[in-house]
Amino acid sequence: MFTESVTLDAPNVRVTDDAIEADYLYETTRVTLDEVSGAAVARPHCERYTFRTERQLPRLGLMLVGWGGNNGSTVTGAVIANREGITWRTKEGIRRPNYVGSLTQSATVRLGSLCAPDSDTHEEDVYVPLSSLLPMVHPNDLEIGGWDISSADLAEAMARAQVLDYDLQRQLRPHMARLRPLPSVFYPDFVAANQSARADNLLPGDDKQAHLERLRADIAEFRRARGVDKVIVLWTANTERFAEVLEGVNDTAENLLAAIRGSHPEVSPSTLFAVASILEGCSFINGSPQNTFVPGVVELAVQHDVFLGGDDFKSGQTKFKSVLVDFLIGAGIKPLSIASYNHLGNNDGKNLSAPSQFRSKEISKSSVVDDMVASNGILYQPGERPDHLVVIKYMPAVGDSKRALDEYESEIFMGGRNTIVVHQTCEDSLLAAPLILDLAILTELAQRISLRRDGDAQYERFHPVLSLLSYLLKAPMVPHGTPVVNALSRQRACIENILRACVGLPPENDMRLEHKRN
Ligand code: NAD
Repeated sequence: MFTESVTLDAPNVRVTDDAIEADYLYETTRVTLDEVSGAAVARPHCERYTFRTERQLPRLGLMLVGWGGNNGSTVTGAVIANREGITWRTKEGIRRPNYVGSLTQSATVRLGSLCAPDSDTHEEDVYVPLSSLLPMVHPNDLEIGGWDISSADLAEAMARAQVLDYDLQRQLRPHMARLRPLPSVFYPDFVAANQSARADNLLPGDDKQAHLERLRADIAEFRRARGVDKVIVLWTANTERFAEVLEGVNDTAENLLAAIRGSHPEVSPSTLFAVASILEGCSFINGSPQNTFVPGVVELAVQHDVFLGGDDFKSGQTKFKSVLVDFLIGAGIKPLSIASYNHLGNNDGKNLSAPSQFRSKEISKSSVVDDMVASNGILYQPGERPDHLVVIKYMPAVGDSKRALDEYESEIFMGGRNTIVVHQTCEDSLLAAPLILDLAILTELAQRISLRRDGDAQYERFHPVLSLLSYLLKAPMVPHGTPVVNALSRQRACIENILRACVGLPPENDMRLEHKRN
């Protein structure tokens, strides 16, 4: 059964006007290797934590870099349509706005099983909205703004994107025409040459320090003018080429700040935005595959205790891949090759048709099965991995309706072969827009959570590299030296179980002993 809301009846949880405090037993398995035999020695381990979540919701501002792009205009139009309750007609009938595809707005979690009071009988499962577990900002309440190198207002940008239905665009037009992106930094060397045609809204000059100061001032002014308590900055601008990581340039926070002062050519626009955001105390999320987070950015974020999330929205093909390969390897089947072909006809596709921007995407798309392959030493020898091919082609005729064709060739029982072929029509921006909202909402929530291990004097926040967001990102960035998890079900379980921990509930373990006893 499904119910809308949850009330807690937990002796380990204290709810005040300010916060929810939950005492929590964190149980893990610690493994050592036997020095002689090399065998794994497993020991159960248990630590006590207290999770503290502030209850007060801030007024949240979301600043998009690339606001006038397909994703930027789609997410803005969709939020306005939801907020204003705009319905529209298509040839199939009347459509209503919604947040389908958003984990925080449209997904549920299993809370537990229904029991009669004072009884040990367990009946059906009870599901609640994921957003009912903890106070979260609602997308309708977001203040959205941002930058674009194209001066088109958001109404023009929406029309250019050709994503939303015409009757909806028509009604959104008066709302969107008032919204105009701030001028942005544009270093043509970082995006495809074909992007220069739309670059008519640029900060003057090539002094990177002056650009940094202007971006900081933009964030501060947005905060003031819109009356928001917190701002999150999110890159949904074009994919850049990789920046070279150079000793003395972008390898440390200090060197990076000096490189910006010296307008070093390897400081990319996205890195400049990340630095501006960190210095303004705002979390920064990178929705594209490039290496915005050079080591100097990560060090700066750690110094300022500001969250970073990245890289690259995980919307269609990759999401499916991380489910399918997890299933295959988890089932003891050995994927031998994965061939992924994409063609798309939007501006993202046009930009990705240039080799160095494609290379950024290729790297991001290729790493997604690494942890699953490494998990199974029965199927794969050390260093062995499936052949993995990624092709992306620009095909203007299909517009934003990206096509993804994947072939998975696997070895099965007794040398047999299994071939799975998948064809997806992605509707790219309609898949990415809800992720943008989830990224902002979960990042804001993470800013209100702190945790304290028993015996520690103080509460601490999550590490500035916010790996909690991995479910939403293709090449999840994690704190240095910690394992990357790509399997989608594990990434989702991480979010769900951390939310449960914050309200003192045990993790979902799917044992269901209550239904298995005699
Ligand atoms: P888009 O080309 O429609 O929009 C990008 C916008 O960024 C454009 O309006 C462009 O003018 C602007 N821009 C470029 N450089 C800029 C700069 N330096 N400063 C400010 N604005 C700048 O692309 P899109 O379809 O909205 O996708 C955006 C990004 O998201 C791309 O990098 C894409 O690879 C990534 N992405 C998209 C999806 C998806 O499903 N839509 C999935 C994963 C990643």
